[in-house]
Amino acid sequence: MSDLGEAASDPNAQMLGGGNPGVIPEVQQIFEQHMRALLNRPNAFRQVVATYDGPQGDRHFRDSIATLFRKKYNWPITSANISLTNGSQSAFFMLFNLLGGITDTFTQQIMLPLTPEYIGYADTGVGPGLFHACQPSIKFLENGFFKYHIDFNKLKIPNRIGAICVSRPTNPTGNVLTDEEVDKLLALARTHQVPLIIDNAYGAPFPNIIFTSTSSIWNEDIILTMSLSKLGLPGIRTGIVIANPEITEAISGMNAIINLATGGLGPAIAYPLIDTGEILTMSTDTIRPYYEQKLRKALECVHRTMADLDVFIHKPEGTFFLWLWFRNLSIDSQLLYERLKARRVFVIAGHHFFPGLDGDWPHQNQCIRLNYAQDESTVSAGLRIIADEVRKTLI
Ligand code: PLP
Repeated sequence: MSDLGEAASDPNAQMLGGGNPGVIPEVQQIFEQHMRALLNRPNAFRQVVATYDGPQGDRHFRDSIATLFRKKYNWPITSANISLTNGSQSAFFMLFNLLGGITDTFTQQIMLPLTPEYIGYADTGVGPGLFHACQPSIKFLENGFFKYHIDFNKLKIPNRIGAICVSRPTNPTGNVLTDEEVDKLLALARTHQVPLIIDNAYGAPFPNIIFTSTSSIWNEDIILTMSLSKLGLPGIRTGIVIANPEITEAISGMNAIINLATGGLGPAIAYPLIDTGEILTMSTDTIRPYYEQKLRKALECVHRTMADLDVFIHKPEGTFFLWLWFRNLSIDSQLLYERLKARRVFVIAGHHFFPGLDGDWPHQNQCIRLNYAQDESTVSAGLRIIADEVRKTLI
């Protein structure tokens, strides 16, 4: 992470690491308008910056979110099902340590049924060994694509699990679990009487960076996390947790201890967008097409620059990441990362994305993740150098 921080301020770096969303001018303009409107509403700015919200987060915003989901999906939720956090990352820290934990006499793990999985979960446990992860099956598709699936036949479940968690769409791969996979996971969670956490940071209905059609699902056995970050607002740190009232109350209590209150600026800018439904049109008409177009260009560039290489691309069904698998890489992806860094190209080496996976699966060291949300010249310059470095390892 420190490398990525350093690279972000280096004008000569090709920054394909990190999780920054693209800056979409039309979307930024909408946020600016809403910020100005906030400043112009009598007392609104003072209210936002000069008072602490309650630890569950701004009531108006929570009501707006609940109304949106009731109308759109018919989910039976109210503001009592919603808690806000300072970014969804902090929600994971709270949820994982609330539902799982390891002491001398007690082990209750968080199960990640599909790896690779989001790097941000990896170090959230206050003790070691919090995660139990499973190796996926791999399905080869046409034109050099492949897709990971949950291997339900080989899924080993530890004695005690506290929750099952998946990101959908998945960071780093862009995988979107099928409805059938989600149904099976929910059944498994119910059998073990634990919640199924679905991390929807990139999903429907906002920011809607999802290129395949699947159902959105919530019920009292599911904890759905969302975020305003990938809409284009990572700096205002607003995470949303939709859960049953007991979990909501627990998150609110933990928030009170860790943060005292959640920030009010995100909710204040975003609630008018939610009340008018603009957040949905913006996501569907602007954000998704923006990333679809970026994806098309990035794929063209991979095919152009790596035609001679034995590279497989995870089928990109959502997010703004490409997950490349170099099956014949003769060095591990960490060394590839180091060599790329020396040429000022920043990606993330694949092995970081397997938190909780036991054993030494060589596949973990054959992949890299790159972020294609940045400008086209950065992505294509970066890909050319990646191709060049991979090629050198074959000589
Ligand atoms: N979940 C996933 C899958 C992510 O990729 C990220 C950020 O990159 C997060 C959660 C956390 O996002 P934030 O804390 O900005 O809401």
